[in-house]
Formats: sequence, C-alpha cells, structure tokens
Amino acid sequence: MKLNVTSYGRLPTYAKCTRCKGKALVHLPSHHANFCNECFLVFFRNAVKRAMKLFPLRPRDPIMVAVSGGKDSLALWSVLTELGYYTKGLHIDLGIPGFSEASREASKQFARSRNLELSFYSLKDLFGFSLLDIRSRTHRMICSVCGMLKRQFLNRLAIQEGFSIVATGHNLDDEASRLMGNILRHRESYLAKAYPYLPAMPGVASRIKPLFRLESEEIRIYCQIQNISYVKDRCPFSKGATSHIFLESLEFLESKMPGTKRDFLFGYLETKRPPTSDETPGERCSICGAISYRNICGVCRIKEELTKRDGRIVKGKAT
Ligand code: SF4
Ligand SMILES: [Zn+2]
Ligand SMILES: [Zn+2]
Repeated sequence: MKLNVTSYGRLPTYAKCTRCKGKALVHLPSHHANFCNECFLVFFRNAVKRAMKLFPLRPRDPIMVAVSGGKDSLALWSVLTELGYYTKGLHIDLGIPGFSEASREASKQFARSRNLELSFYSLKDLFGFSLLDIRSRTHRMICSVCGMLKRQFLNRLAIQEGFSIVATGHNLDDEASRLMGNILRHRESYLAKAYPYLPAMPGVASRIKPLFRLESEEIRIYCQIQNISYVKDRCPFSKGATSHIFLESLEFLESKMPGTKRDFLFGYLETKRPPTSDETPGERCSICGAISYRNICGVCRIKEELTKRDGRIVKGKAT
C-alpha cells in the first residue's frame, strides 16, 4: 500500500520508526515515539482496540456511528470498520447555513467511497426548528443546546433504527478540556458522568467514545494517511465557546510538558469505574418519555420556550 508522506512536530530527517526502525514520518512527543505511516496506523488501531476493551459490549454488537462530516467522526467510522465492527452512520443536518451543506456532503462522500450505509435526518424535521432558528430565538449558549439536542435525537433515532450502541467521535482533547472545565467550576453532577462509556437502559442506547485515547492531531494524521476528506472549517456558531479556552490552556501545558493532557485525563479515569444503569436517573420526561432529572426534559423545555416565543410574535403581528 502506498501511503502519503506525513510529518508532525519537529522530526529530524534521520529519525527512525520506534516500531519497525524504518524511516519515521510521524513524531508523537507525548508518546516519546516516532512512526512510519504503516506503524502509525497500527498504533492508532491499537489505541481504539484498547478503548473498546473498556466498554462492556459484545464483539459483534452493531454500532450506530454519529457522523458529522468532521475529521473525528469520519476517522471513527473508518477505524471501527477496519477493526471489523458492523456499523451504520447517522447524520443530522443541523441547519447551519453553509456549514451544514458541507458537512452533509463530506459524510455522503465518505460513505459512498467506502460503500457504507448512512441515514440522514434534519433537525428542522425532527424538532421543528433548525439551529439557526434556535440561535435567533434564544439567548441560551448555542453549543449546550446543540449538544443536548444531538444527544437526545441520536439516541431516539438509533433505537428507532434498531441499534443499542451509539458511538461518537469525542477525542482526548475534547474529554480533557471538558474535564478541566468541570473541575474548575466544581460541577459535581457533570463529573459523575465524565466517563467515555454510558450504559444502555430501556429505551436508551449505550454511548461509547472509542477515540478518547487519541489526540486531535493524531486523528488528523490518520485522516491524512487514509485519504479521508472532511470538513476543515470550524462550526461558525462555535465562536466564544468556553471549551476552546480550556483546550488552549491545556495546549499551553502540553507544549511545555508533553503528555500532560493524557496524564490529566487518564489519571482521572483510573480513579473511576464504568457507570452502571443504577447510577443514571430513572425518571422520564412527562412529554416525550426521555430519561430526565426533571419532570420535563431539557429538550422539551427548549421546545416550549421557542414555541411560546413564536406564538407571542404571531399574536403581536395579528393585533
Ligand atoms: S460548535 Fe456548537 S453549535 Fe456548532 S455543531 Fe458543535 S456544538 Fe453545535
Ligand atoms: Zn514503522
Ligand atoms: Zn421531553
């Protein structure tokens, strides 16, 4: 197999691959390792295999992969397929002008090139409002609303399509920066859920994050070697997201002390054990039946807020 030349970090021209002693093309300072492209792929797959061992799943369980069209979700879908899992992609068009069209196209193109099955849905059809509609009607933090909607609809659609496992492309950087934010703000209830696996319950698919051992840059290199075309632009609604600030702080520490992100996340996870279904709320939303800590779930509360607001606007116009 002919592979593209890739390099990352400051790699001397004579550097040897840590694994096969051939010419190294990839430098991973946080692992104190250099790899040729072939050995990098072995390293990458091993990191995913190691993550999958942590999740109490049966090896042949079919997995619904949440596909956004970005590098993480496409790399996830690619590597799970390489490892022999039966997968299907699920893409939700969020209705973000320009960005959503590009995301849908990248997802479609990847599925077509690998002959994989992909289902498409639109947030507007599912919820009655696109993300653009929501952003113009509420002052809530758009990323937290978006995250909540994606979580609930991914689960609902996966169950509807007969899947009991949903995999998302969250990587080590995402998980470490989220952990940092939750620790700094003493968010105990979020910390309790800070694990790359959540168990299944009646009507709820289990959630897994098979890329949690891999850094964003390692995923970018994987996509480059595997010729995966993905949407490179950032979501235009992400400006000002606090997660970026936490990630920048971690990147600063990482540049001074390679391996900090891994030590921070893995050290924390070692103190935890996989959550069980008894530890998640047993309450159901009285409107949609989703698992909820309150009588009405967050998604139904947003819907009520948006619908009431629209009602007020229509009434205002009519009088
Ligand atoms: S950046 Fe925020 S708004 Fe954009 S897709 Fe991600 S969570 Fe949604
Ligand atoms: Zn090698
Ligand atoms: Zn609800």
